[in-house]
Order: sequence, then structure tokens, then C-alpha cells
Amino acid sequence: MVYRSFNEEMKSRFGCKIYKLALSGGMTCPTRDGTLGTRGCIFCSAHGSGDFAVGRCESIAAQIEKAKALVSKKAKGAKYIAYFQDYTNTYASVEYLRKLFFEAIEQEDIVALSIGTRPDCLPDDVIKLLSELNIIKPVFVELGLQTIHPQTAIYIRRGYDLPIFDKAVVDLLNNNIEVVVHVILGLPGETKEMMLDTVRYVANSGAKGIKLQLLHVLEGTDLADEYRAGKFKTLDMNEYIDILIDCLKILPPDMIIHRLTGDGAKRDLIAPLWSGDKKRVLNEINRRLRELN
Ligand code: SF4
Repeated sequence: MVYRSFNEEMKSRFGCKIYKLALSGGMTCPTRDGTLGTRGCIFCSAHGSGDFAVGRCESIAAQIEKAKALVSKKAKGAKYIAYFQDYTNTYASVEYLRKLFFEAIEQEDIVALSIGTRPDCLPDDVIKLLSELNIIKPVFVELGLQTIHPQTAIYIRRGYDLPIFDKAVVDLLNNNIEVVVHVILGLPGETKEMMLDTVRYVANSGAKGIKLQLLHVLEGTDLADEYRAGKFKTLDMNEYIDILIDCLKILPPDMIIHRLTGDGAKRDLIAPLWSGDKKRVLNEINRRLRELN
């Protein structure tokens, strides 16, 4: 079974290997600053889902140089995407965002801008800014949906309802901005059918890309307390791969698969421990996919 991977897609669009430079925009989230809550989404670590970004106090130019240095040995002849991953990267004034994002795409070898955010943090002036940037270099907006099921959304403290997601997708698509949706597989209380419902919804949403992520339990999160209290179990590797394969079967063949498993920091991983060996997991996923050819 073949799928359209992010790496291959980027290579065919830009003609070379593309690396993401994880940058910090210095923002927080409405689920953390008291607007919607103070403890963040239940699964989210103190780093705000961005465990690999370089220092958030430095200028964007300095962050870019540091992030490039991290991949310099393997990145000969490569180009880059400026990637704002941690926290909610449109949760600031449009003036602040304008300066930040224009600086991030200034260099010639940065071919695109990728912004992780929440659908409830995309007001009209921000959409307009993204549309302006998108004319200069492609902009990808990653939306953390995780699930379409209201009871799970409440449990994970997502803080917005599904119509907010629908509106954000329409607003972005109306401005030709590429949408990538994050989905978590294995959320407490969800059956396989519920997870497939979410993926089916994304398949029909107009999004061009999807990140499929295994639920990780990370140290320091409220989810870790729930896990230790025995309130739910995490998926084992075979269960996860079975669900993942069914997700890939549902998705349209031109959907870009940005991620097939989790990518959390190993030092904080509590469960499932098998997911810490990312190479082994990806090998097993690819082996199972080859069997389907
Ligand atoms: S998952 Fe996203 S929105 Fe939720 S607390 Fe973490 S960074 Fe913020």
C-alpha cells in the first residue's frame, strides 16, 4: 500500500530534500493563559507540543541559524521550511505576527512557512496576513483537531467546538492556504470506529495534509495522572498499526501524510514505551504496508 509522504511531496515540489526548522514564536495558548483554562490540553507537555524547537528568547534570525546548524551535516544542498510548532502560533497581535513571519521567510533557502495553531485563533486580520505571506512563499497551517467527538474534546480540554474548525478550514481554503490537520489515535474512551470517523471527516474537509499521531502519555501532564490512576490504557504497537492502516485506506490518495506516528520527547515518555523506538515503529509500519501491496 502506498501513501503520499510529506518528504516525497516536498521533494517533488521544491526539487530537493526539505528540512523543517523548528522555531519558537514566543506565544502561549488560550488553554494556558487563563482565557479558556490554565493547564493546557490534557496531553500537552509544558513545551506546548514543540519539544524540538530552539530557544524561544532569541531572534528569529538566530533561531534559524541554530536550527540549520543542527541539520547541517546531512542537509547539503537542502532547503528549509520555517516551522512554528510549539503553542498557538497565531495567538498574538497581527502586527507581532507580521514581523515574525516576514522575518522567518526572508532567506532564500527558506521555501515555505508552516504554522501550527488552533482554529479558534484565526481571526480575519490574521487570515489576511497569511494570505499575503502565501503569495510570497507557500504557507501551511496545521490545525490541532485531534478528534471530532465532543465528549473526547471536552475530556482533552480542547476548548473549541467542531464548527469553529469547519470555519477555519473554509477561511483558509478560500485564501488558497494549505491546511494540515492533526489527529490523535488512541485517545481515552475512543473506539477504533470513532477514530476512523475523525479521519473520514478530515478526508472530506478539504485539508491537503494530515498528521496521524499516536497518543503519548508524557511526564508532567494531567494525562499522566489519569494514566497512573488506571483510567485508560494506551494502544499496543499492533493495535496502533491496524488502526493506522485503516486510516490510510480511508484517506484520498492525494492526501499528504505528514506523520505516521508520534514525535514526543523520549525523556518525558511514560507510555506507550514501544513508541520511543521510532525507527523500529516506522520499519514495522512500512513492513505491514508492503504486505498489502
Ligand atoms: S495542544 Fe496545542 S493548544 Fe493545547 S495546550 Fe498544547 S500547544 Fe496549546
